[in-house]
Amino acid sequence: MKKNVAIIGFGGQGGWHGEQILKSDVVALAGVYDIRECRQEYARNKGIHIYGSTEELLSDPQVDIVLVATPNDLHKQLVVQALNTGKHVICEKPVEMTVSALDEMTAAAEKNHRVFTVHQNRRWDVDYLAIQQLVLSGEIGKPLNIESRIHGSRGIPSDWRCQKAHGGGMILDWGVHLIDQMLQLYTEKVVRVYCTVTHITNQEVDDGFKLHLNFADGGEAYVEVGTYNFLALPRFYMQCEQGTASITDWKQKCHVAKLTAWNEKDVLPVQTAAGITKTMAPRDELTLQEYDLDRPLSDVHDFYRNYCAVLDGKAELLVKPEEVRRVLQVMEAAFASSEQQAVISTDI
Ligand code: NAD
Repeated sequence: MKKNVAIIGFGGQGGWHGEQILKSDVVALAGVYDIRECRQEYARNKGIHIYGSTEELLSDPQVDIVLVATPNDLHKQLVVQALNTGKHVICEKPVEMTVSALDEMTAAAEKNHRVFTVHQNRRWDVDYLAIQQLVLSGEIGKPLNIESRIHGSRGIPSDWRCQKAHGGGMILDWGVHLIDQMLQLYTEKVVRVYCTVTHITNQEVDDGFKLHLNFADGGEAYVEVGTYNFLALPRFYMQCEQGTASITDWKQKCHVAKLTAWNEKDVLPVQTAAGITKTMAPRDELTLQEYDLDRPLSDVHDFYRNYCAVLDGKAELLVKPEEVRRVLQVMEAAFASSEQQAVISTDI
């Protein structure tokens, strides 16, 4: 039987969940609560049940799962309230702004024996999955350096995302996804964090950032979000022991250049303004094989399928609170690094 979900915060993302739940094979939509009349009206027009308050929604015995999709600063309060009334809870990302706030949420889940997870849905992004599959297959060896970038050109949204009090800024908005992906790709400990932020279109919160991560085994990661980039660099760029992979943007396939032999017999030099160079001359097909990977299959409904299977005792959570905690630890170190303009040593 389908499990009933009720949504608190029926804005852009709550609306997205509503649409997915209506199409889901494992969950049904019990109703929604939003403080804004226009969003209540929107739900009403779609024939969706509207609760009059958070308390009314939480006291509905038909509701098995509560999804919290309000602005970030309200997550902890609503998640803990829902867990304390005995509901299972899914929270939108970023789960909170600090590790200590998340710890209060997980403590409430444990105390009430409820299942709590976070909607880190960009683990289902096809570009990320292509890189993940390449890492796991070992086809071009172990990663030495992974660069993950999102370059937009429209500045930071002018809603609550540009206000500090609501948990705005790009580290919390997009950074949380890209760091989460990176910590799935590299499982070694993060030992150093260095971050700079930009304030091009907004002074109150970061409208972009550049984050360097060093891992215990020598692996490196670079995560960048920009909102003032009128030409975009590739979404992913990965150097591995036996080759390089690149994904230019969301819609493109992963392009792989695999090293088949290190030594070349006759390197043809390339002409530059200052003379010829063999060091920077491109390789040919005798030592390098280039190809595209098929785009991986992905189904966003697997998030709710997994969550329901966990409630039935048949699976392990795909997005575990301890993984989300690591991401928050990295974000805290990134904020500290940008404030202190220093490299932060970590054990994350
Ligand atoms: P939004 O502003 O469009 O929607 C938030 C809604 O919450 C608004 O309709 C607002 O009226 C409502 N709200 C505010 N206070 C409330 C309260 N006390 N009780 C009930 N409703 C309340 O914002 P959004 O883009 O939908 O973002 C909401 C959350 O979803 C944020 O945490 C955001 O980071 C996250 N999000 C996640 C993704 C993703 O890909 N996972 C994408 C977008 C947003």
